[in-house]
Amino acid sequence: MPGEFDLIRRYFSTPTPHAILGVGDDCALMALTPGQELAVSTDMLVAGRHFMNDADPRRLGHKSAAVNLSDIAAMGATPRWVTLGLALPTPDERWVAGFSAGFHGLLAQHGVDWVGGDTTAGPLTISVTILGEVPPLQALRRSGAQAGDDVWVSGTLGDAALGLQCLQEEMPLPPDERQFCLDRLEIPVPRIALGQALRGLAHAAIDVSDGLLADLGHILEASGVGAVLDLETLPRSAAMRRRRALPGADALLLSGGDDYELCFTAAPERAAQVQQAAARAGVAVTRIGAITAARERVLRDAHGRPLPLAWQGFDHFRSP
Ligand code: ADP
Ligand code: MG
Repeated sequence: MPGEFDLIRRYFSTPTPHAILGVGDDCALMALTPGQELAVSTDMLVAGRHFMNDADPRRLGHKSAAVNLSDIAAMGATPRWVTLGLALPTPDERWVAGFSAGFHGLLAQHGVDWVGGDTTAGPLTISVTILGEVPPLQALRRSGAQAGDDVWVSGTLGDAALGLQCLQEEMPLPPDERQFCLDRLEIPVPRIALGQALRGLAHAAIDVSDGLLADLGHILEASGVGAVLDLETLPRSAAMRRRRALPGADALLLSGGDDYELCFTAAPERAAQVQQAAARAGVAVTRIGAITAARERVLRDAHGRPLPLAWQGFDHFRSP
């Protein structure tokens, strides 16, 4: 059975070309790009809560990196370094090898160095801290939304939540749609290029991890504004479009978690630039509503009629 230091040496010591000193000493050492601000974020994933105990380790490694990269994306920052805190019930080498490959694989795609961490025995828990850089005053905060802004979202919504239902065997899907939704759930794509392209363009941004309404709600709260959303404009994948009429389909779209898309606001006169930025970043964006001065939260149907209590009502979907 490998010991702690065997695991670190074999599976957690990867090349760190962007660090002065990586894994192996008491601290890692990195040189910051002069003049940049440091963006730091931590996310934890706990077995049984954020993923199932038998989750594929490679896909779990990918997701652990992706959810942290997504926070950096939502800030418009450039990801640079990560550390990994890992509690493992047993030193299962096959699991660790798979996890490490998935984790490092996605980080390497983004030029991010895995510079350190901590490894201990305990209930399976993954804690990742990511460090990024962003030019001064250009970070995309939650607090910058202005009345009159368009509200935008990238990609499509609800696919991961549909994938989770599929895993829990509450929703049978044909094989191709099942695979699509499971991929959306288990190996999300962080919208790094889009976040960076939105610097100087978006007034506020957040990544959608807890569902659109909850996360847009954070922007509204932080900015002291309201929003009117048009349900019919929310972007749906083919799988979600096909299930439009099913009970609960709109709740998946509005409140399903784990989308890891970016929701952001921008002045309406910048709409063409937003579309160009998204095209450069290789992801579709959709205008789904507008920011209002009144601190209202309105969801409208296809005829422009407010859906009564819909915003608050869908919150119940989220209670465990
Ligand atoms: P210390 O006792 O000084 O905290 P450790 O024995 O915990 O050092 O770790 C030794 C080295 O291995 C450190 O450089 C640490 O960053 C690295 N390390 C430990 N666990 C991990 C991990 N899960 N991922 C990456 N590096 C790790
Ligand atoms: Mg330690």
